[in-house]
Amino acid sequence: MSVATCQVCDQPVETGYALCPACELDFALLLLQFVPWMHALEASLDATLHPGGHQPVRIITPVAPTPLRLDVLDHLDLLASIAQGLWRRLEGVNPLKWQRDLCPDVIGCLTDAAMHPDLAKIPDIGMYVSQFQRLKPKTLAIIDPPDRATPIGQCLQCGLTITATRDAETVTCPVCGREQTASAVRLDLLECSIRSGKAFTAGECARLLRGAGYSVSGSTIRSWKHRGLLQSDGKDERDQPVYRLRDVAALLRDTPSD
Ligand SMILES: [Zn+2]
Ligand SMILES: [Zn+2]
Repeated sequence: MSVATCQVCDQPVETGYALCPACELDFALLLLQFVPWMHALEASLDATLHPGGHQPVRIITPVAPTPLRLDVLDHLDLLASIAQGLWRRLEGVNPLKWQRDLCPDVIGCLTDAAMHPDLAKIPDIGMYVSQFQRLKPKTLAIIDPPDRATPIGQCLQCGLTITATRDAETVTCPVCGREQTASAVRLDLLECSIRSGKAFTAGECARLLRGAGYSVSGSTIRSWKHRGLLQSDGKDERDQPVYRLRDVAALLRDTPSD
């Protein structure tokens, strides 16, 4: 008789087990990771919500949006069927009460399975492990898109804060509907910040300037201070030195970019 091995890492395991203790723990933790993701997925179903960001912004689309994102719906269905399949595999089906589906919702299935004493003993557990491992990147791609929208400035018409992804060229204000180029919004923010005489940390100055096309880093700005080219304008509440954007922008014109 061959020695039983872990279906994930091939280490020898005790008879009757299909996962070693380390892989069992990894799998249980993976299942539990899906619990908060389920809420995020359900929130992502609404096609009018802008994905990403902590405060989703409703966007107005030129055509009526599909009320539900079908790709998210399909993904939730797949997740539910695999989680329920695993739960039924662990709990078994009571032949006397087979009509009653005692299977809880997906979150219930995930938490029951993660804590189930037989989790490492199901003969085909390796298949479930690889299914959940494959569901993970797809789930994260939905709830945490790599290119997330960040505030870039104020609407040139109504003053609402506009968010855009890094590569967006034009943005449409969700309130007044005005279409404007992202670079005009960024430039306007920069000009307002310069005119207001407001002070920012070196990192914030660099971000504002880069948004408008200048290439400058926070460390360059800090080096200007060390070289005596730039004076800080006090400190912020976290005790970081702040600089008037006007002063930084003035140096930018005289200093070759790095
Ligand atoms: Zn293992
Ligand atoms: Zn507007």
